[in-house]
Amino acid sequence: MPRRKIGKRRVLALARLWRERLHLGDWKLSLLVEPIPEAEDCKAYCQAMPEYKEMTVAVDPEAVTPEELESTIVHELLHAHVEHLAGLALAMAGDDPIKREVVRLAEESLVVSLERAFVQAYAAPVEVLS
Ligand SMILES: [Zn+2]
Repeated sequence: MPRRKIGKRRVLALARLWRERLHLGDWKLSLLVEPIPEAEDCKAYCQAMPEYKEMTVAVDPEAVTPEELESTIVHELLHAHVEHLAGLALAMAGDDPIKREVVRLAEESLVVSLERAFVQAYAAPVEVLS
């Protein structure tokens, strides 16, 4: 059975909804809905520049399932809030690969916890998902 794919319209609607919910309305958001090269080894990512309140969120429509789309978008948007702190921690970690990995794991763990709490508390209304 072929896997259902996510549509760009749904990605845009969820990103718009969660951007406001997460108080990121004053950030410039560039949203990419396109395949992510395998070398990147991810289904989605966020590149945030908190000093300019700009971020790029990319979602791979061939890798993210409809069931995980909302969580994925919330997750990537939350990285924008955490980026400044993670950047400071990475600066203190310097070139030490172990310290850098500890920072990466701590950032990811925090974002996953926040994502689950927000999605559980405020799942999108059905009309946004259709
Ligand atoms: Zn993440």
